[in-house]
Parts: sequence; structure tokens; C-alpha cells
Amino acid sequence: MTIIIDGKQLAKDIKVELAEQVAEIKTAGSKIPHLAAVLIGDNAASESYVRNKVRSCEQVGFNSTLIRHDASISEDALLDIVDDLNKDEDIDGFIVQLPLPDHIDEQKITLAIDPRKDVDGFHPMNFGRMAQGLPSYLPATPYGILQMLERYGIETSGKHCVVIGRSNIVGTPMSILLSRKAKVGNCTVTLAHSRTKDLKAETLRADIIIAAIGRANFVTADMVKDGAVVIDVGINRVDDASKKRGYRLVGDVDFEAVLLKASHITPVPGGVGPMTVTSLMMNTLKASKREIFG
Ligand code: NAD
Repeated sequence: MTIIIDGKQLAKDIKVELAEQVAEIKTAGSKIPHLAAVLIGDNAASESYVRNKVRSCEQVGFNSTLIRHDASISEDALLDIVDDLNKDEDIDGFIVQLPLPDHIDEQKITLAIDPRKDVDGFHPMNFGRMAQGLPSYLPATPYGILQMLERYGIETSGKHCVVIGRSNIVGTPMSILLSRKAKVGNCTVTLAHSRTKDLKAETLRADIIIAAIGRANFVTADMVKDGAVVIDVGINRVDDASKKRGYRLVGDVDFEAVLLKASHITPVPGGVGPMTVTSLMMNTLKASKREIFG
């Protein structure tokens, strides 16, 4: 019987825990955690992600600030915003929602964020600390996946994990985290990508597959070993005339077919996505408690 990992419910549970912690902070008269989000332009997906993040902050009792600018903002002006947020003592952590318009160098913006406030965990300081097993803000999506594996009691030690996709925000940090000597870790990891020669041969050896490619239904049942754990990170729009908005969201995994083989599988939507947002909240709480950098 395949277990469908309910990311939506897990995220709700974590939000209840966070709200309890915020209530304790309030009772103690301490400062309420405060997350700021910077949204540039009018990318519909970014807009909905940021809205979700701000709403989640409100649900757990955090303070939140949304800073919006249209896509014509100059790189210097955005760097000034980052600088102000770095200096603002009330802001514990902030994110600059990616992607940014083409005329803005994302790397430059990421480097300008104070690592102590980098709750997305994208700054090389945090990434390097993560790779060395030092306290750091973990990138939200891999952190959410670790939470899922832990809370569903999925054994990772000694397992063979195939991560498909090598992005800086999902695949690469995921491969590092799962190979680390840690409670959820100790996997033997294969990091597959667009130049991998025989992907099916790799995935068929996997006890755990993490798909972060961005191609609808890419992982098919013939690529999955019986009893594998399948985590689907992908969010892809496919046309669907039966939906009011004309499309529906699907993952990178052919869910219906892989469901019949996997021991555990995450749905899209309702799997990894909600966990990504709660991870950001968890990082913000850590930031407000100065847990990572003291
Ligand atoms: P990306 O778009 O930066 O990169 C895709 C990766 O897939 C690349 O590393 C590439 O090497 C690999 N790839 C492409 N074609 C391949 C092939 N034929 N075989 C093997 N590997 C191949 O990746 P990303 O930013 O990590 O996003 C991946 C997906 O995850 C997207 O659908 C994105 O929307 C989604 N995503 C979801 C969340 C969430 O919270 N659920 C968060 C981040 C990203």
C-alpha cells in the first residue's frame, strides 16, 4: 500500500508548532519574528509564491513586510533596498524573490544580502556552511524535503538516493544534505542531470528518487524500482480546458503510474510546495532567535 506524503497536512502541523512558539515569544515580551519579501515585476508565479509566504507569516503570527517594485527598477536601486533591509533591526530575515528581470544580476543581489538575514539560504556563506555541516539557513525546498522524510519516519541511512536536477536551489543542496552525516542523511547519492547518459539505469537503482527537473511527467513507472520513495519537486503547467484557468499543475513524476510502484510518493500540488513555505518560516524563527550566527 503506497503512502501518499501529505505535504499540505505536514505544513499545517508545522505552522501550528510555529504559532505556539510565537505565542511563547509574545508571552515573554520578546520581539516577534519579522520576514520581509521583495517582489520585482509582475511574474504571476512569483506573485503567488510571495503572496503565499506573506499569508503564511500572518497565519503563524509573524510580522511581514512586502516590498514591491515594477520590473524597470535599476540594479542599484534594488541593491539599496537590500542594504536598507540588512540594516533594519526589526527585520530578522528577508528574501528577494527570483527570478529577477534580465538587467539585474541575481548573483550580485544574493551576495549583497547579509548572510545573517539570508533565510532563503542562497548566499555562498550559508551554502558553504551547509556543505561543511556547520549551522546555516538551509535552502527552503531541500529543508522541507528533509522534514518530510523525517516526519514520515523514512530511513535514509545507507540508502541510495538519486537526485535528478542540479540547480543551486534544489538539486545540488539536496544531494549535499542527503549525503551528510546527519539524522536525515547518510545516503549514497547520485546527482543526475541533463548530461547523464543512462538516467533510467541510475533511477532503477534508487531507494529514494528526488525529481527536480521542471518537465511534466518526466519520471515514468519503468524508471522506478518497486518500493522506492519518490519525492516530486517539479511544478509544471499543462493545458486543461476543464479548468477555469485553462491549465492544471503537475509534477515531474507520472504520479498515477508511479504510485503503483512506490512505497511513498509526494503529490503535486500538495507535496513539496507547502513544505517549502514552512521551511522559510522555520528559518525566519531561527533568524529571530539568532540561532545560526549567534
Ligand atoms: P532548474 O530549472 O534550474 O534546472 C533543471 C535541472 O534539471 C537542471 O539541473 C538540468 O540538468 C536537469 N535536467 C533537465 N533536463 C534533464 C534531463 N533530460 N535529464 C536529467 N536532468 C535534466 O531546476 P529547479 O529550479 O531546481 O526547478 C526544478 C523544478 O522544481 C521546476 O519545475 C520548479 O518549478 C520546481 N520547483 C519547485 C519548488 C517547490 O517548492 N515545490 C521549489 C523550487 C523549484
